[in-house]
Amino acid sequence: MLNIVLFGPPGAGKGTQSAKIIESHSLVHIATGDLFRKHMGESTELGQLAKSYMDAGNLVPDQVVIGMVEDKIQEHLDGNGFIFDGFPRTVNQADALDQMLEKHGLSISGMVALEVPEEELKVRIKERAKTSGRVDDQDDDKINNRIQVYNRETSPVADYYRNQGKFTAINGVGSIDNIYEEINSAITSLEV
Ligand code: ADP
Repeated sequence: MLNIVLFGPPGAGKGTQSAKIIESHSLVHIATGDLFRKHMGESTELGQLAKSYMDAGNLVPDQVVIGMVEDKIQEHLDGNGFIFDGFPRTVNQADALDQMLEKHGLSISGMVALEVPEEELKVRIKERAKTSGRVDDQDDDKINNRIQVYNRETSPVADYYRNQGKFTAINGVGSIDNIYEEINSAITSLEV
């Protein structure tokens, strides 16, 4: 199985690139933000719980996210592997992911990190706000909070994988296709 963590700050392009990667590598996409938004749309208990955190640009508590991901992994153990998008977002989540995969004799093949300067992230999120309908895309305070949360709680996750020798950085500025080519060659080198 090929199990990839696609990493990067809000607005780095993880969703866009995931769509291309799952198609070419037949992987199961586990995007925690998308899963929460689906729950919110259906007004499930989980959706209601996640909403206040998400709308403010804060992280949903680890236990809630970890439980949701574990369910998804168990549903798709017969596939080619997973691409994790927006997860893990804390070192605690990364530890939990390693443990869940290990239970099934699996592990993370590698992390691919999209690097994009902060100013560019803000421009992209504001552009996306016009069509995303996402409350957390709509104003500067929320966008700045998300970037701060990323810097404080999420960026240490890169070191977690770096220490395991599983980290590859990709320049996330450029054309969607060129960035995809870079990601694709990083992933292909993990497959052998
Ligand atoms: P973006 O990468 O643009 O911030 P996401 O869709 O990945 O968008 O995440 C949106 C929001 O969903 C986050 O700000 C957070 O509130 C919640 N969320 C998503 N994934 C996680 C996670 N792994 N841990 C905690 N909260 C999460």
